[in-house]
Amino acid sequence: MTIDVDPVSDRGGDATAGGTARRGPGPRDRHHRVVVIGTGFAGIGAAIRLRQAGIHDVVVLERADDVGGTWRDNHYPGCQCDVPSNLYSFSFAPNPAWSRTFAPQGEIWAYLQTVTRDFGVTPHIRFGHEVLEARWDDTASVWRIRTNHGEISADVVISGHGGLSEPAYPELPGLDTFAGAAFHSADWHHDHDLAGERVAVIGTGASAIQFVPAIQPRVGHLDLYQRTPPWIVPRPDRPFTDREKRLYRSWPLAQKLNRLGVYLGRELLVPGLVNKPALMKLPERLAREHLRRQVADPELRAKLTPHFQIGCKRILLSNDYYPSLTQPNVDVLTDGVAEVRPHSIVGRDGVERPTDTIIYGTGFKVTDHPVMHRLIGRNGRSIAEHSADGSLRAYYGTTVPDFPNLFLMTGPNTGLGHNSIVFMIESQLNYVVDCLRTMDERGLATVEVRTDAVATFDEEIQRRLQTSVWNTGGCASWYLDANGRNTTLWPGFTWEFRRRTRRFDPEAYTLTPARRAAVTTGA
Ligand code: NAP
Repeated sequence: MTIDVDPVSDRGGDATAGGTARRGPGPRDRHHRVVVIGTGFAGIGAAIRLRQAGIHDVVVLERADDVGGTWRDNHYPGCQCDVPSNLYSFSFAPNPAWSRTFAPQGEIWAYLQTVTRDFGVTPHIRFGHEVLEARWDDTASVWRIRTNHGEISADVVISGHGGLSEPAYPELPGLDTFAGAAFHSADWHHDHDLAGERVAVIGTGASAIQFVPAIQPRVGHLDLYQRTPPWIVPRPDRPFTDREKRLYRSWPLAQKLNRLGVYLGRELLVPGLVNKPALMKLPERLAREHLRRQVADPELRAKLTPHFQIGCKRILLSNDYYPSLTQPNVDVLTDGVAEVRPHSIVGRDGVERPTDTIIYGTGFKVTDHPVMHRLIGRNGRSIAEHSADGSLRAYYGTTVPDFPNLFLMTGPNTGLGHNSIVFMIESQLNYVVDCLRTMDERGLATVEVRTDAVATFDEEIQRRLQTSVWNTGGCASWYLDANGRNTTLWPGFTWEFRRRTRRFDPEAYTLTPARRAAVTTGA
């Protein structure tokens, strides 16, 4: 099916996907075959693939009032995707109407709304339903899911809670005394007029480099508190021509070929990122040249020059970030914050700077997501408490011992620094759907990945990550957890992940038939 999403404003789509959904379970529908958590790409993709596989008893729980996940919640000025739109979309739902090669947030949100509607997912969604706890009931072999609207149960839970959904706030001395406005990039206050204000921005990551150029012309003065300068390369963004859109409509193969080309181009980075960081010299030269061309002042350029290997943190794309920092109303501050006062921030350089509004571009809680504390397995422990050392481990980022019939979407080591996460989500969904088919065919009540299978898998992943630029590149990033383990990224080509998750592999699982006599292999 081709999806036709008309370009919409920067602020988002028409919020209609929620229109016909039920808000609460009736007494007769408290148990379901599958409960899906979240309506981002992962949750919506899961619901679509389950329906296509003939599994219709599916309920999708969404804490907000509309679909969209990160693309609903992040609507800061300038918010766009840094993966080209033809690739950052479902393979089964191409959109020939993308306005630009890199779609703005509103179009991606509208795309998800349209896909939700067109693929018949809307009636499955319960909006305003937050999962407070999902606990495995070993006696009944079901998940008991407590929400703010009561309890339901399910044979299977698929968690599409999203890695980038819980804002992280900095702990700064005196922050609670600040009398002005303060908000996170993921909770933008559009009704707050920044015109003429003295604004402090904390953070210089993927979000900040998009909203800083968007607000800089409006604010009176902008103090940019930079802890680590990121590597930034040019953004090859342009509008799609009418001819291209017509071609994509009349000959969908053309859009598929473009998608394939973009995908393969991005995979070219993998050898440098994973095995031979020396290969990253070329992108580093590109980034250095970009900085040199856009920032003439040597002092400012020195401040903006990263001191770690490119790729260690996400490589950012922007054409307007550096130029905005060269404007007379911007100061790039690199000494850090000593103290926040009611109407000012005192830097570690000892200077007190009057401040009306603070904007946090400080990212998300990725390796310690709250949902990880709410999923409780057979031994009464949450996923977060599950491992002795506190590091997350999951088989293909998807299944965890002691958590039968639970599938994590974009779980540990499924993230990417270079390509589209939607590709990984679709790979995981192949695996989950094949698992559910196997359960039906074999009459299984539960599937639970074996501890040794996860250990072997995790050893392989961690070994392969040892040479990667993410582990060796000399930066601190959210890819590494509190133990310094990289629990975030996939250490290879994404087509390898696709191939290895194409089929469910029962031999890695303990399978329990409906009569509940456990067998340890799929044989
Ligand atoms: P981020 O990349 O984690 O950046 C957070 C920034 O805040 C970093 O500069 C960090 O400095 C700084 N910071 C954090 N805590 C701080 C503290 N206590 N004091 C001072 N500075 C602090 O977060 P993000 O920019 O929101 O992006 C998160 C992820 O979202 C990205 O990596 C990307 O995956 C995704 N994203 C994608 C797009 C897209 O176009 N597809 C757009 C935006 C975001 P350090 O570097 O020193 O830690």
